[in-house]
Amino acid sequence: MKYTPVIGLEVHVELKTKSKMFCGCSADYFGKEPNTYTCPVCLGLPGALPVPNKKAIEWCIMIGLALNCEIPLFSKFDRKNYFYPDLPKGYQISQYDQPFCINGFVELEGVKLKHPEGVKLSVKLKKKIRIRRVHQEEDTGKLIHQTINGEKVSLIDFNRSGVPLVEIVTEPDFESAEEVKEYLQKLQQIVRYLGVSNADMEKGEMRLEPNISLRSNNTNTTNTTNKPISNKDLPLYKVEVKNINSFRFVEKAIDYEIKRQSEILDKGETPKQETRGFVEASNSTVLQRSKEEAADYRYFPEPDIPPFRWNESQISNLKSQMPELPDSKRARFEQDYKLSPYDAEILTRERPLADYFENAVIDGKKFGVTEKEITNYLINKKPNIEELLLAQLIQTIVQSSQIADIDEEKLNELIDKVLKENPKAVEDFKKGKESVIMYLVGQVMRNFTKRIDAEKIKASLLAKLK
Ligand code: ADP
Ligand code: MG
Ligand code: ZN
Repeated sequence: MKYTPVIGLEVHVELKTKSKMFCGCSADYFGKEPNTYTCPVCLGLPGALPVPNKKAIEWCIMIGLALNCEIPLFSKFDRKNYFYPDLPKGYQISQYDQPFCINGFVELEGVKLKHPEGVKLSVKLKKKIRIRRVHQEEDTGKLIHQTINGEKVSLIDFNRSGVPLVEIVTEPDFESAEEVKEYLQKLQQIVRYLGVSNADMEKGEMRLEPNISLRSNNTNTTNTTNKPISNKDLPLYKVEVKNINSFRFVEKAIDYEIKRQSEILDKGETPKQETRGFVEASNSTVLQRSKEEAADYRYFPEPDIPPFRWNESQISNLKSQMPELPDSKRARFEQDYKLSPYDAEILTRERPLADYFENAVIDGKKFGVTEKEITNYLINKKPNIEELLLAQLIQTIVQSSQIADIDEEKLNELIDKVLKENPKAVEDFKKGKESVIMYLVGQVMRNFTKRIDAEKIKASLLAKLK
């Protein structure tokens, strides 16, 4: 490759608070009749005053903490001014230079690198993606373009106006679409674990904006150290692709941009700094507008909301309310239950399954059901855990692991075979050396992958040896 992709991500996550960011309207707007969840505040009527949603702010900070951010003890809201019909106030309340959370990171597990000479050795290269900031803002209304009575019209629904959003911005540390995908999966998993958003892409609860540029691989800038490149080595342009609503589309958009920009660079030209949109039908991107600058937004401090001053104990209090997060849960599952990294990863992918597993382990103990058996059942059989009661699960495993389930005829054949193959042991037994019976039981049991009732095998063996 002549070029290394340089990619930074901006992700919007909608919070599932009861009410909106600055008013008392319900934030549960999805699928509701248009313009029924509105009030003077979220309609931007003159004189209406915003009152910040405490829960939303706490959740924004929790997201920051989960992403290893610092929480500055001073922050504020700002107005981001622009004119568009879905923004009734003519500005969005957002955060500009003093966001709630800064300087975090997410660790990617990375791809497994195979040793060049063989498959024996595989190394996992962990990679840190730096989080620049996590800030709070409000959603806009929704424009719906339709043709009614042969006339093209734009309809506007303000139910979404003012719904709490959190924006998570990374440094440009990604070098491929695969890395971006892993990060997005982790981020989605984290906000779900925190219980602050369902991050359902199809409902627009998580929206993605990759920024993409390409760096030439000449000798002195090649990044072999796996460390972030310094800002001075960044390409002088970047292309932002707006509002993508699926992980697959983000990968497609990135791959398309890499190809498009390489072709421009190959000609000795520099791609233009611009904002583009993703076109699903052709898996390509198209120009939307040349990039706006921060100055275009005329940011200034929101005069209707006083700034925030936290103290350390408020932040540590929030920290203490956070659940165990995916990375530590996965590590603990490997440790405590002696699970393989693969099994631990699957069982901790979603919190309900992880909780279900841990409860099953406790209940299973009383019936001699092991962690391994529960793991295998959950991973292989993929039961619907919302319907399968723990007691039923345990009972099913106990039953399936008993010999009653094994064909009696097969068992007899197997015993005959083992006796035939072990004449010495049979002889010893007949001479009165009764302890060899356990050896023979073991020989029979070796043929089963499931846990089976040794007592029953012993009884069958003794019957034959009489
Ligand atoms: P803007 O002010 O235009 O929004 P920022 O510097 O705030 O730009 O960055 C927005 C996003 O673009 C961040 O995620 C950042 O990591 C990413 N980014 C910055 N420079 C580049 C670059 N040269 N190539 C790709 N992404 C970049
Ligand atoms: Mg941007
Ligand atoms: Zn409202």
